[in-house]
Amino acid sequence: MYADGFRRTGDAFLWLKERLEEVSVEEAEREALFMLAHLGGAGPSELLARLDEPLDAACIEVLNGWVERRARHEPLQYILGSTEFWSLEFRVTPDVLIPRPETELLVEEGIRFLRDHTGGLVLDLCTGCGCVAVSIARELPEASVLATDVSAAALDIARENARSNDVAERIVFLEGDLFDALEGRGLDASFDLIVSNPPYIASSDVDVLQPEVSLYEPRSALDGGEDGLSFIRRIVEDAPRFLRPGGLLLVEIGNGQAEDVGRLLEGVEGLGGFEVRKDYSGADRVVAARCTRPSQRAAYGL
Ligand code: GLN
Repeated sequence: MYADGFRRTGDAFLWLKERLEEVSVEEAEREALFMLAHLGGAGPSELLARLDEPLDAACIEVLNGWVERRARHEPLQYILGSTEFWSLEFRVTPDVLIPRPETELLVEEGIRFLRDHTGGLVLDLCTGCGCVAVSIARELPEASVLATDVSAAALDIARENARSNDVAERIVFLEGDLFDALEGRGLDASFDLIVSNPPYIASSDVDVLQPEVSLYEPRSALDGGEDGLSFIRRIVEDAPRFLRPGGLLLVEIGNGQAEDVGRLLEGVEGLGGFEVRKDYSGADRVVAARCTRPSQRAAYGL
């Protein structure tokens, strides 16, 4: 039984692409490919080699349901339940922000810094689905990561992603609001690297983002308060306490925030060497600062 009359994957692809265009999906061809690949348990390029293969008729019903959800602006990644980041697969649900490609810059910069260290203890604040923590742990087999989030539901997803990517034994997940999760654990001056992609969109801008974001992604992962900087401000202020002398802080920022964050950093005792890194589209995306507090050993001339 072929309800819509097609027998081959290629026919279904053309039909699906057209249906997605009808409901105004911008990248209809790409999304059609991802949907069909996901159904067939293949990658998009593998699917392209299978266009002549017969398609299970039951797939059409599933695809119809997905098109309806997409028509209501639900992001493709939530519909499929997964996405790719740093060439790894991550489960995503509406409890977590969907990883953005530009956030790979945080991972890239973190790895570049830690490669020169043996071991390495990393703190990832606002871990969400765990994409940054997991990617760093995958790249640096000697490193250990502590990842925090205020959302217990997000931490469940992050733990699952650490397991599916085989790094669960080197990441500890803690629930709490930024550094609060660390209180009383004796972790002052402990971290070689602190990374964070915190919420940084100004509250008034969150509702006017594209509907895929404003209607479906967790507001708590996006809303950075009145000026967008409320989390970044707290991270910058508390980072020197938890960084080792010489340790690095890397924070993702939004468009146009570099100057304000630079000013914030300059006002914080114990941080210096402020730098900004641009993403592949040329936008300021990550700020970096080093912990300038002298080590205890230095105080004894050691
Ligand atoms: N980069 C995300 C966006 O543009 C925002 C992520 C964040 O606030 N950390 O939707």
